Amino acid sequence: MLSVRMQNALNAQINAELWSAYLYLSMSMAATDKGLKGIANWFAIQFKEEQDHAQIFINYIHSRGGRVTLAPIAEVDTEWDTALAMFEQTLTHERKVTSLINDLYNLAIEEKDHATKNMLDWFIDEQVEEEESARDIIDQLNMVEGNKFGLYMLDKEMAARTYSTPSPLATAE
Ligand code: MG
Repeated sequence: MLSVRMQNALNAQINAELWSAYLYLSMSMAATDKGLKGIANWFAIQFKEEQDHAQIFINYIHSRGGRVTLAPIAEVDTEWDTALAMFEQTLTHERKVTSLINDLYNLAIEEKDHATKNMLDWFIDEQVEEEESARDIIDQLNMVEGNKFGLYMLDKEMAARTYSTPSPLATAE
């Protein structure tokens, strides 16, 4: 069984993932308002992925016979001056999520909870990707800074991003 400490920490992470989902949904709508449909698509997919992250933790708690408790989701920003500002906040936020996942991992080690540690391995890798993709887009936005055609082309490219079910959910069925 999950320890109370581990269960509470996993429940807190569900809230953090849902807050991330809410943040990216807000960014998606802000991008739509700016006419950046590709960036809106990118964040809409990010919104789905964050809900998936929460679902992975929910499924895991249930598989261990634990109890999920949903807490209120705190408010998120609703306006950004530029697309660059959105991705800078995305990177800052994902770095914070990485540190939360690391804290969970450390707790699992401390509690000698090997099953939780194994489940978290996927998230450790996922966070490397999350930070890398935010950094890549920041680099690209900096390259086209002040160039509207460049932003138009980059936005078009981001419209091509498609959603796929993350492996822990794809194999859970
Ligand atoms: Mg996440």
